[in-house]
Amino acid sequence: MTQLMQALSYCMAFMLLAQPVQADQHVNVLLYHHVSANTPRSTSLSPQEFASHMAYLHDHGYQVVDLGQAISSIQAGDELPTKSVAITFDDAWRNIYTNALPIMEQYDYPFTVFVNTDPIDQNNRIAMTWDMLRDMKQRGGTLANHTKDHDYLVRKPTYNQQWLQDTLANIAFAQQRLEQETGPTNKWLAYPYGEYNLALKQALKERGYLAFGQQSGGIAAFSDWQALPRFPAAGPYSNLKTLKLKLASQPMPVDYHGFPEPVIRLDEANANPPTLSISMLRQERKGVRDQVRCFILGAVETPIWQDKQHWQVSASAALPAGRSRYNCTSPIWGQSNYYWLSQQWLVYQE
Ligand SMILES: [Zn+2]
Repeated sequence: MTQLMQALSYCMAFMLLAQPVQADQHVNVLLYHHVSANTPRSTSLSPQEFASHMAYLHDHGYQVVDLGQAISSIQAGDELPTKSVAITFDDAWRNIYTNALPIMEQYDYPFTVFVNTDPIDQNNRIAMTWDMLRDMKQRGGTLANHTKDHDYLVRKPTYNQQWLQDTLANIAFAQQRLEQETGPTNKWLAYPYGEYNLALKQALKERGYLAFGQQSGGIAAFSDWQALPRFPAAGPYSNLKTLKLKLASQPMPVDYHGFPEPVIRLDEANANPPTLSISMLRQERKGVRDQVRCFILGAVETPIWQDKQHWQVSASAALPAGRSRYNCTSPIWGQSNYYWLSQQWLVYQE
């Protein structure tokens, strides 16, 4: 008996050693803006569509978790519920309060709202009021920072010291307003439009912020904590058929900290189209390597592998001005779902 136990414990220790990459410990985060049938479709879904998303999560064994708890667990290496999903909203629209909150309360789902504070301070009628935000916080909501004025943070002529100071002041102002009006507030920023550059990312890291983009994917221990992905789930992404695949996906285990500058300026002609060079966290089987695909500007691109761990991909033509994404997937060995990876680029024309 003792021998059997010993053999079993060796076996378990081996299994743990053989799994250095904990991609299975992850949370997929959904990103919504408007929940209304009367707002711009690109960032909206109807209350009925939102209800169908929540019902799908409930009926298919997803655990909607508190984002803060999930992040703490991932950072501490603690167990997360399987099929963990977190719900987030950007912009503090009033329709989140009137249309989404009652649906989430039916399921007792926690959620996070990233608030740009000026519309609240200006009593904008399509934004929530501070009373509504305080009420949301009482009812399962976490509030976080989406800047003061929702400006484009990195569409600036130069990234000098003044730019950085002004940008950080904008973020600090929103943080202060949230704390004054609603109490203690996590240092979490959602970048407006998901746009950031490496300098801003680094400055936020030094100041203890976590920051969220709008590139798709899940969060795991190997994520870049100042460029956390979320799956946009409204407008063209509200279709449940495609959302199902994303919900079932796992973050691709790669070194996200080595990702390149996401802003390409037009004076850097050589930089467009940008090359995304990927370092996987382990060597991949040929069967997996052969099936990595990237979806770029409506085309499917096949990456070039340097060895069993490193690959590169770029668009076949220059990216247009504005935002574009490289979305890459690969099968997970022995499973029916996919690894997911995304990088958003901003081609900036002054
Ligand atoms: Zn926003």
